[in-house]
Amino acid sequence: MNDFADRIDAIRGDFPILEQRIGGRPLIYLDNGATTQMPDAVLDALAAHYRTDNANVHRGIHTLSERSTAAFERARRTVQRFVNAAESDEIVFTGGTTDAINMAARAWEERVGPGSTIAVTALEHHANLVPWQQLCKRTGARFEVIPLTPQGDIDLEALETVLRSQKVSLVAVAHVSNVLGSVNPVREIAAMAHERGTCVLVDAAQSVRHEIVNVQDADCDFLCFSGHKMLGPAGIGVLYGKRELLAELSPVRFGGEMVDKVSFAETTFEKPPLRFEAGTPNYPGAIALAAAIGYIESAGRDKIASYEHELTAYAERALGSIDGLHVLGDPARRAGCLSFTVDDVHPFDLATFMDKQGVALRSGNQCAQPLLHEVYGVQNVTRLSPAFYNTHVEIDSCVELLGRTVALLR
Ligand code: PLP
Repeated sequence: MNDFADRIDAIRGDFPILEQRIGGRPLIYLDNGATTQMPDAVLDALAAHYRTDNANVHRGIHTLSERSTAAFERARRTVQRFVNAAESDEIVFTGGTTDAINMAARAWEERVGPGSTIAVTALEHHANLVPWQQLCKRTGARFEVIPLTPQGDIDLEALETVLRSQKVSLVAVAHVSNVLGSVNPVREIAAMAHERGTCVLVDAAQSVRHEIVNVQDADCDFLCFSGHKMLGPAGIGVLYGKRELLAELSPVRFGGEMVDKVSFAETTFEKPPLRFEAGTPNYPGAIALAAAIGYIESAGRDKIASYEHELTAYAERALGSIDGLHVLGDPARRAGCLSFTVDDVHPFDLATFMDKQGVALRSGNQCAQPLLHEVYGVQNVTRLSPAFYNTHVEIDSCVELLGRTVALLR
């Protein structure tokens, strides 16, 4: 445990939404894998921008437009520094992770066809599976799924075999699984892929808040994440792409600001990142995302990581006390979330009864139907995903209420 435990009251005081009661009990919000809450610093940054500087970006020459553009581009540099990208031009603002992956998959269309392969792993969120599956259907490329070990880690030997035996154009892999919480060795995967001339896209939606994401160290070609899973607002996300790759790819959306010269006959396009940001971007979201990064950095990214890892491990140990509860997977490293089933209890009933007692858990297929149905043979699970503003006392209360609810429902 680190000094977070001593600062937790102050930290929780920064998140006004946590101070409420649901069903007559204090809210225990343990659905951070779906969306995290925003601290005052982020809410204030968003409101301040709308109050004093709001104007469209990269368009006007009036004062508000210049202020707004400067704040938007400052936000880009903040994200660049946060993920350690070599240049701010490598940061494309998107609507979120799903949007970023869809953009990448559309742009990749000119690189694949019959004879080439796109590989994903068996633990991907639908957002990092369906766009690639559909790309393969459109182009005739092969869609390969890399299996997991019995513990729930990516089977690297199977990946090596696929890389060796097929012409793999791109591997798409989650940094942290949104179901198992497994932390995947993205640097090792990128090194294996690059040896064969294969590119790698990392879905960092679940990791960006609590793992140090360093694109140069991981040497990934693309990396995607969402603002709302790292204390920012919904509707803003990032597609990082290596400069030379982005420069080679054609735009996939067309409209204002992404163009250089337009005539009735022909159009030339801006350089990245603007080439990929057609129309009015979510500049208030980007500015709020930069404020979220500021908050995370001042709280201490490594401290957030170790506290959240410890809290997840604590929750896993505590859940062991509930008879008939099975946590999915036993990966080498787990971060941020864990999912479980309970014998004879439906996850929807469990989450509904827990909600009535103030505890927010996620139930359902976690947007990972193939992983649940085809790998683990279960339809739905319940997921518990703590953030650094959660406490050990909350975990204890949650587990105690879970135990009682399970007894009631059986
Ligand atoms: N990838 C992973 C691993 C996720 O957990 C999620 C959301 O839960 C997504 C992608 C999609 O993120 P968004 O809905 O913000 O686009």
